[in-house]
Order: sequence, then structure tokens, then C-alpha cells
Amino acid sequence: MTTATAGETGRASSAAHVAHNYNPLPVIAEYAAGAWITDTDGRRYLDMLGAYSAMNFGHGHPRLVAAARAQLERMTLVSRAFDHNLLGEFAARLTALTGTEMMIPMNTGAEAVETAIKIARKWAYEVKGVPDGRAEIIVAAGNFHGRTTTIVGFSDDPGARNGFGPYTPGFISVPYGDADAVARAVTPNTAAVLLEPVQGEAGVIIPPPDYLPAVRRLCTERGVLFVADEVQSGLGRTGTTLAVERVGVTPDLVVLGKALGGGIVPVSAVVGRREILGVLRPGQHGSTFGGNPLACAVGLAVVELLSDGYFQRRAARLGDVLAEQLNRLRGRGVNQLRTAGLWAGIDIDPELATGRQICERLATRGILAKDTHGSTIRLSPPLVIEEDELVWAVGELGAVLAELESNRGVRR
Ligand SMILES: *Cc1c(COP(=O)(O)O)cnc(C)c1O
Repeated sequence: MTTATAGETGRASSAAHVAHNYNPLPVIAEYAAGAWITDTDGRRYLDMLGAYSAMNFGHGHPRLVAAARAQLERMTLVSRAFDHNLLGEFAARLTALTGTEMMIPMNTGAEAVETAIKIARKWAYEVKGVPDGRAEIIVAAGNFHGRTTTIVGFSDDPGARNGFGPYTPGFISVPYGDADAVARAVTPNTAAVLLEPVQGEAGVIIPPPDYLPAVRRLCTERGVLFVADEVQSGLGRTGTTLAVERVGVTPDLVVLGKALGGGIVPVSAVVGRREILGVLRPGQHGSTFGGNPLACAVGLAVVELLSDGYFQRRAARLGDVLAEQLNRLRGRGVNQLRTAGLWAGIDIDPELATGRQICERLATRGILAKDTHGSTIRLSPPLVIEEDELVWAVGELGAVLAELESNRGVRR
């Protein structure tokens, strides 16, 4: 056995004793600041993934670290059995930021999605009058809402779903981007339509501009809740606080996570109107860690960072740069391209390479990115990234594509 352990070398990979539910790039990170990650050999990489948009404000943002550090010294957990001094303030500030009235704090994105599902079902029984046990929730093909047993049951990604049944009933899947398909799926028992305003994991799929407004109108007409999963799209990524703002839509419930924890602690929440969240009464839902003082301190600092619009504007401006730079690669190894703010899905010519192969080559050039679904690469760098870094990264992607193209020429 030559497998080194962390104790021996200080830089072993996680492969020996961690379940193989991920296939990480061969880089062992040790330190990170802003948009840069340093590995155990001292090599530096530009972080073009930003922890799937959980790292919107950059690694070690001084205001977030200061808020966490100060709170660590004061109090970190009392459970929801007791109130504490930061929960009310966090809730007030988060609901003000999102134009809502009430929030429920959780930890991970999947937990918050589960929470929204529970609220929607309870609302359907208590307010809409759906017969008990019959509530239906309409979801979209290509969705990604997390990894719990209920959520993977309405995924159509075989990797995420297969082998984890039996699946929770009550979910109806329709094609994404087609409001008529949603309309046809609505029945008197429909509690909610649950959608990502932009499908992140699917490859940054942006629906037609009239899709979300049409679904909103339909939900209002038919007495159905519109639940937007903004775990990845929300909190500045697309150039607005919420991605639904891009098309002027106000959902009934919004699910937040990822960047809400500032890349420091898991913080998620469901926000919405009082009359909807109000269906939950004491004892009916909860979380040991949800809304803990450390999470609230960091979450509050995140909301403060977003409250003057600086990061949203920065995402929009840098997003234009990203789109312009990437556009130059169209037809030069890039087949399709989708951007929303500082967020891109890039479909590489599958004849050229898989997304994984591209990401491996980018890593050797000092750029960390992540593939999704075959030949698609998704970019969601921290919003603190500088314009010249962004231009450099896309240039390197162009160089990798040119390299692969010339190899192909040799093979011919
Ligand atoms: C990441 C993600 C989730 C799940 O969040 P976790 O914190 O990993 O549970 C849910 N919805 C969307 C849209 C996501 O991108």
C-alpha cells in the first residue's frame, strides 16, 4: 500500500477514506483569498466555480470573516427553543432585501426546498382546501433542487435519482421553459409550481423571457403558489438580488441558500408573504441548527453586503465582459453559450472534448472550473473577481480549445 495519508504528507487526496460520491479535479486546496485558491504545492488557481455560487463575495471576505469571528466569541448556538438577539434582525433585513414579509431559517439548500414543499402542501390543505394527501407540485424537467430522498425522486438526472427509490409521490414534471405545459398540468389539487428561474446545474439554462411571467399569471389565476428556487441564482449572481427581478416576477415563496452563508457556514431560508409562511405553527417544522446565532451573524453581514446594490451591479457589468469574451469562442470549440450576469453555461463541441477534459486542462493552466452534463462547463466565479482576471481565464479557455482543435487536425 503506497496510499499516503494526510498525516504522512499533509497533502493526500480525500480518495482513501471519503465515499466516492464526487470525482474532484486533482488539486488539493489549502488556502484561498478573494477569487484565488492555493494548493498544497503552493500553486495558485483562479476560482471560476465559486463553490457553485456559494462563494459570491470571495474567499475570506473581510466583513464576513469579521462578523463570524466576533460572533464565535459571543454565542454560536442556543437552538430555536430560545430566541436570540440576531434572529429577528436577520429576518427583518433579509425580508426587506427580498421584498417579502416573513422567513424561516434552515441550513442547506435542500432543507430549504423541503421546507418550501412542506409549506406549499400545508397551504394547499389548510387554505386552498385540497383533500388531505392529494396535493400536487409541478416541477420542471432538468431541475436540480438538492439531494434528499424526496427531491431526487422528482429529478430526471439518472445519476441523481436511480437506485434511491421508492420515490415520494405528488410531483409532476413538465418541460422547462414551456408555460403551456405548466397550464396543462395544473389540476384542482395543484399546490405549487416549483422552478429554478435559471437552471444552474442543468448548465445555466435560461428560459424564454415570457416564461416566468406567464407561469406567474397562471399561478395567480389558478390559485397555485409560485415557488422560485433561487439557491444558486439568487443573491447577486445574475446582476440583480433575485434572478426573478430580471423578468419582473414576484414569486409567492423564494428559496435561498448557498451565498446566504457567505461561504462560511451553511445558511438557507424560505422567504415569502406572512399569510403563506403563517401556515406553520409551533412543533410543525424545525431544525436544530437553523437560524443559529453564528449563521444569523454571517447571514446579516451577507444581506448588508447586498443592500447597496454594489455586488449586483458588479455582477451585471462583469457579466457583460464575460459574455463578450466568451462570444469570441463561438464556432471555435464552443457550440452554445448562455450567460446570466456573472454566470455562464458553455457547451463545448463534444467531438473536441468532454467538459471534464477541458476542466483538467484548465487546471494545469491555473483555472478551476466545473463541468456539468457531458460537454458543458459552468462558470460562476466570485463576484469580487477582477475584469482582467476574467479576460485572462476566457483567454486560457480559448487556448485549451485551440490546442484540442490542432490535436484533432493531427489525428486526421
Ligand atoms: C445547490 C442547490 C440546491 C441544494 O443546495 P444544498 O445546500 O447543496 O443542499 C438546491 N437548489 C438549487 C437550485 C441549487 O443550485
